[in-house]
Amino acid sequence: MTRRPLIAGNWKLNLGPAAAAALAAFLDARLTGCGGVEVVVFPTALSIPSVLRALEGSAIGVGIQEVAAIPSGALTGANSAVMARELGCTWTLVGHSERRQHFAETDQGVRDKVRAGLAAGLRPIVCVGETLAERNAGRVDEVVLRQLAVPLEGLEPAALRQVDVAYEPVWAIGTGVTATPEQAQQVHASIRGWLRTHVVPELAEGMRLLYGGSVNAGNAAALLGCTDIDGALVGGASLNVGAFADIVAAAQRRA
Ligand code: PEP
Repeated sequence: MTRRPLIAGNWKLNLGPAAAAALAAFLDARLTGCGGVEVVVFPTALSIPSVLRALEGSAIGVGIQEVAAIPSGALTGANSAVMARELGCTWTLVGHSERRQHFAETDQGVRDKVRAGLAAGLRPIVCVGETLAERNAGRVDEVVLRQLAVPLEGLEPAALRQVDVAYEPVWAIGTGVTATPEQAQQVHASIRGWLRTHVVPELAEGMRLLYGGSVNAGNAAALLGCTDIDGALVGGASLNVGAFADIVAAAQRRA
């Protein structure tokens, strides 16, 4: 089955409204359509309106980096999936390791946020990944599959079709150390195998598995050349138009 590659840029807590809109406009001009690749950017929440304006009519999608498990209520400082959808967002990240680490997000919390995103009409990218200590202890599959099983459990096929997964080893995020294509493919194959046995096999074949962790213009082609790597979640390199465009181009060669 052919899976349309997905390249996502996580801008994290960078770029205010003006700088984010400028980056989005440069990116849109540079990509001139996405050529068979789905492209989405995740600005910081405060910059979403200006990025949406800059990308009006563009093929590049816009997502929100984090949503609360409830659509509205007494949750000071949180973001609502329903309100993000009303703004024009179509995607959300869920379970990013920085959220797990700094905001104590649990697998159950991720599960609730996936459901909140889906209910609002956002496509969740569910992030999973082991720490270096867990890798060294031989616990990669155990950790990654648990982080996946909890949020996906009980989702109907129609909902599962809206979900993409990002494997992001914690030790590779923002460190400049990338998993080798072999290491990444091995985990992606385990995830695909788990999906085949735990969800409908056709859905498992169709679900996109992104790799994230220090992806850059130099290593993207080798990673995206792996059988079960269907795209990339890119942090640092997504802030550079040229590097991000090169990563999209590498995905186009795979498309
Ligand atoms: C990320 O934040 O999801 C990420 C993969 O960051 P980086 O590409 O900078 O490692």
